[in-house]
Amino acid sequence: MNTDHARFDTRAIHAGQAFDPTTGAVIPPIYQTSTYVQDGIGGLRGGYEYSRGGNPTRDALEAQLAALEGGAHGLSFASGLAAEDALLRTVLAPGDHVIIGNDVYGGTHRLIRRVFGAWDVRDTTVDTSDLDAVRAAIEPATGVLWIETPSNPLMKISDVAALAELGHEAGLVVVVDNTFASPALQQPLALGADVVVHSTTKYLGGHSDVVGGALVFAAGRDELHDRVKFTQFAAGAVSGPFDAFLTSRGIKTLGVRMQRHSQNALAIARRLEEHAAIEQVYYPGLESHPGHELAARQMSGFGGMLSIALAGGGEAARRFAESTTLFQLAESLGGVESLVNYPSEMTHASVRGTEAEVPESVVRLSVGIEDVDDLLADIDQTLDRL
Ligand SMILES: *Cc1c(COP(=O)(O)O)cnc(C)c1O
Repeated sequence: MNTDHARFDTRAIHAGQAFDPTTGAVIPPIYQTSTYVQDGIGGLRGGYEYSRGGNPTRDALEAQLAALEGGAHGLSFASGLAAEDALLRTVLAPGDHVIIGNDVYGGTHRLIRRVFGAWDVRDTTVDTSDLDAVRAAIEPATGVLWIETPSNPLMKISDVAALAELGHEAGLVVVVDNTFASPALQQPLALGADVVVHSTTKYLGGHSDVVGGALVFAAGRDELHDRVKFTQFAAGAVSGPFDAFLTSRGIKTLGVRMQRHSQNALAIARRLEEHAAIEQVYYPGLESHPGHELAARQMSGFGGMLSIALAGGGEAARRFAESTTLFQLAESLGGVESLVNYPSEMTHASVRGTEAEVPESVVRLSVGIEDVDDLLADIDQTLDRL
């Protein structure tokens, strides 16, 4: 089915997901195979040779990913960081420089600082919500501008359209990590970004049952896609067929899940904002959030992630994170179930002692799609115990 002109939820369900022509199976089969029989040497069927190079289940997911982000090409990887690594390895060389947000996912900071740093790639961390700071950080050797919005965990909002314009004036590859918003709420390629990155482990998969990553390339970036696809093939960090299938399955409900995540998170943000034990609530859906207006312009919803700073500091934050019951204490985010995380010692432990360090008073919530009254009751009982 050609879904090029269909709306988002239709594309999420149908792009790349044609029924099986042999049997009529509504769901395309999982091609759990490593290799493909050839009709004589070099006589490939449908171009398939070996599953590191291509697999129909992965291809189906890649078509779906491209359609979701309004891009020309998608690539599916073994994890979000594998996707980031393949992109950066393709576009950077020793001596190059990268600009990253000062509040990005800890693993992105660690990859760029420690793995690429060892290969003589330098980085500057800046507040990407400050255009002048980004402009001032650009050097002749800069190759990549890496944006994460909303950021993790402080939910800062950066202006993708303005940053893309700024980056392109300087000849940079402009990358947006769209994991937190998901394409249901934010479309960075339409705002001018060159490449979108996902940890599909989070909202796209949506059920905390698969680790995966993705890159989606804007129309007109075919050459960049071809080079990264070669890196993926040559270095090998592809997603397996079953992981690709689970991710495709999750994506089909992305639109309705993101609506519910956003509704639940807003209700919880408002409840937390009223309480004296909470010093600050970081949620772009609140009018009090400094990025609220920009988020309302650039996103079609505010998502399921929020963070709080506790007035009682680190001790109160730890107590909060260990007192919830429905919100389970775990790394990761974006699943149907609610999770609570203590960034400074969990997701962001790797950036302790760097400029990307997260304050000890901060707790991050991934608000799931359970009944909001049960979630609010859990928040209330937790606040009572502080
Ligand atoms: C989890 C995450 C990543 C890394 O993805 P993995 O699938 O864990 O490798 C990158 N960016 C953001 C915003 C994330 O939340």
